[in-house]
Amino acid sequence: MSERKLNFFAGPSVLPEEVLAELKDQIGEYQDNGFSMIEASHRGPAFDTMYHECLDLFRELLGIPENYSVFFLGGGATLQFSMIPMNFLGAGQTADYLKTGTWSNGACNDAQKLGNVKVLFDGKDSNYSTLPAPESVTPDADAAYLYLCSNETIGGIEWQGWPETGNVPLIADMSSDILSRPVPVEKFAMIYGGVQKNLGPAGATFVILRDDMLERSPANLTSYLNYNTHAKKDGLFNTPPVFSIWAVKLVLEWVKAHGGAQGMAERATRKANLLYNAIDSLDSVFYSPVDARYRSKMNVVFRLRDEELEKQFLKETAAMGMLGLKGHRSVGGCRASIYNSLPEESVAVLADYMKEFARKNG
Ligand SMILES: *Cc1c(COP(=O)(O)O)cnc(C)c1O
Repeated sequence: MSERKLNFFAGPSVLPEEVLAELKDQIGEYQDNGFSMIEASHRGPAFDTMYHECLDLFRELLGIPENYSVFFLGGGATLQFSMIPMNFLGAGQTADYLKTGTWSNGACNDAQKLGNVKVLFDGKDSNYSTLPAPESVTPDADAAYLYLCSNETIGGIEWQGWPETGNVPLIADMSSDILSRPVPVEKFAMIYGGVQKNLGPAGATFVILRDDMLERSPANLTSYLNYNTHAKKDGLFNTPPVFSIWAVKLVLEWVKAHGGAQGMAERATRKANLLYNAIDSLDSVFYSPVDARYRSKMNVVFRLRDEELEKQFLKETAAMGMLGLKGHRSVGGCRASIYNSLPEESVAVLADYMKEFARKNG
């Protein structure tokens, strides 16, 4: 086997080596059953046991209260951009959105096609490099919900605190920072995200939904698009993304063994500090384009002051086995995605190389 690369891809992204080893070991036969997990009926006991262990662990690690349903859907996080307004934005109501980058903008644009939307914040003028202070965000008292994206994966900005929304349901896309830190789940009516950033391979979207929200879904929605369908069937209305869920379960076990959400937060802070310290201390060559107060600990976005040098930096790091450092095609620059599963050593190698590169070219 060739040497493992340093994987800074934004998603799908790096998984713990222990999880890959376990999947490899069990892919042919799952726990002496005579069949693989990916050959098992989703109505059978092998899947059922694994599935409920996965859900229980997710609840435990995030501290999800009893009055929330948890399930996995298909369609990516993107399908939720539609399902949220379809279920929760009634006729004559208005939903409040915070437009802070590519992903919340996408969700807002879809909601606008389905109902009335009010944009409480739009980061356009700052090129989506900053966030509103949480205490400055006040949804309308009768808003259907307030929507935000906790970590803008492309822009590299991350909420560090949460708006107080009173009785207005708070809904968050946490695709790219779920379980990278503790979250007060009880402040949110719904948290959702694709698993392929921080929890596992692509194919599943997790939905954490407070049960009282289910009363809002209109009865005329088709079955898959109505959250009630999934909540009532414990997420097994139709075939769930079995392989992803199995891998997520293994990742959750790994997270638990490494200190849970708190352990992940400490790890994320150490890793992010290594890179931001390098960027800040090498400022004749590198800079961070985002508001320092909201720097993401999952997606470290940075630029080089010289475009030619930036190309050279990306070329040299790629040659050294550091993958995925080119920024998203919509914004350019560089981005190191340093999700939970990325080893601290990988980040140290990158930070060291930034220093060497600056010494040679600064
Ligand atoms: C990746 C991402 C999405 C889109 O996820 P898909 O599963 O590809 O639909 C949405 N929101 C955020 C924050 C993301 O990082």
